[in-house]
Amino acid sequence: MMSTSAYFRPVTRSQAAQGGSKFADLKARAQALQTTRSRGGKSTPTAPGGPSSSTEQAGPSQKKTAQKRVKREHTKIEYEAKEGGDAKSSSRSAKPKTTLSSIKKERWEPERWGEHLENIKRMRATRDAPVDTMGCQTCPDEAAAPKVKRYHALISLMLSSQTKDQMTSAAMKRLIDHGLTVDNILKTSDQKLGELIYPVGFWKTKVKYIKNTTQILKDQYGGDIPATVAEMVQLPGVGPKMAYLTMDVGWGKVEGICVDTHVHRISHRLGWLKKPTKVPEETRVALEEWLPREHWSELNWLLVGFGQQTCLPVSPKCGGCLNKEICPFEKSQLRYSKNKKSPKK
Ligand code: SF4
Repeated sequence: MMSTSAYFRPVTRSQAAQGGSKFADLKARAQALQTTRSRGGKSTPTAPGGPSSSTEQAGPSQKKTAQKRVKREHTKIEYEAKEGGDAKSSSRSAKPKTTLSSIKKERWEPERWGEHLENIKRMRATRDAPVDTMGCQTCPDEAAAPKVKRYHALISLMLSSQTKDQMTSAAMKRLIDHGLTVDNILKTSDQKLGELIYPVGFWKTKVKYIKNTTQILKDQYGGDIPATVAEMVQLPGVGPKMAYLTMDVGWGKVEGICVDTHVHRISHRLGWLKKPTKVPEETRVALEEWLPREHWSELNWLLVGFGQQTCLPVSPKCGGCLNKEICPFEKSQLRYSKNKKSPKK
């Protein structure tokens, strides 16, 4: 005797109620089987005209299958929610979970820095600060060969340390008139070189640095300047600030932000640093962590001119600054002056 399958029992009953012929019975069974296959063979077939929920009329084995399926689905959800779980449990769970908080933590950036920068660009649009006409990038002789121009860029940056742009520019003009090439500087006496660069800051020390550096360029770099920051900072009297700017001016390569005293000071005032830094090199590293690379090259030129004209080291001209409403330094100064002026009762 053929055992009655739980699959077919509802079909047989419904067909039997309509006439019960053997042919009708077989037809109903075939329809039920087709329904099951079209659903991927996994779901419980529903009898024609039967209840919408398959579990309502399911037999014990159907209920067991449905329970297992629910359990599987539940377990799967649990694995997906797990962070960095066991690889055997789920292939998805092996991937590290990226959360909004972790993105925020990694991508710190100062508030309203884009507005600060746009305002500084507007204030610098006239390009009439000393750095615009006498900065190091203006010093190389445009008519000189590329290799000589790069040497000019390096020497002008060495002279510019602790020196106003006007003095650097004047000293560079005298050196170029004298003949500012590697071979000619090596032939020039220290005394003559001193006379040419005086009165730039620390001129006696700079005479030694220029002579030693020029000799290294002749011996190790074929009379050219090094093409990497790592090699550049090995030269006597050349620090990271000069190296990054020389790479930009001399080779057209932007490998880092050139942070001088203006960039260091203004970055602090505008709240552009996650925490205060002590030296410009720390400031460079902190700025490079969040400032998009396309702004690295222009930042030095923008902030140096802004620092020369408006955001002065002492008594900045905040009243005429476009950033006065959104500058943390200006706000802190206002708070300080209000507290100072509060009358004693
Ligand atoms: S408001 Fe004052 S301190 Fe702030 S950026 Fe402008 S000039 Fe500098």
